[in-house]
Amino acid sequence: MPAPRLRSRSLRKIFRKVPGGRTNVHFKKRKPESAVCGSCGDVLKGTPREFPFRMRGMAKTKKRPERPYGGVLCSRCMRQEIIKKVRQ
Ligand SMILES: [Zn+2]
Repeated sequence: MPAPRLRSRSLRKIFRKVPGGRTNVHFKKRKPESAVCGSCGDVLKGTPREFPFRMRGMAKTKKRPERPYGGVLCSRCMRQEIIKKVRQ
């Protein structure tokens, strides 16, 4: 039985095979929620779902798509936004 502090559902259970053939349960923190579009709320593609310490080591170009509003709006909403701005 794991320690009481580990019996929390806020932690992720990971079943690890140990060299002896048994399977041990490891507890790990859950990853942060994925980035969502600021307009429609859809999950943003091309944005990694990683821990801040991993994000810090990552290149900027790997964290969001390189286009206007990349990492803020999805491609569909970006197109609508640009069309709206041009037609004003
Ligand atoms: Zn959107």
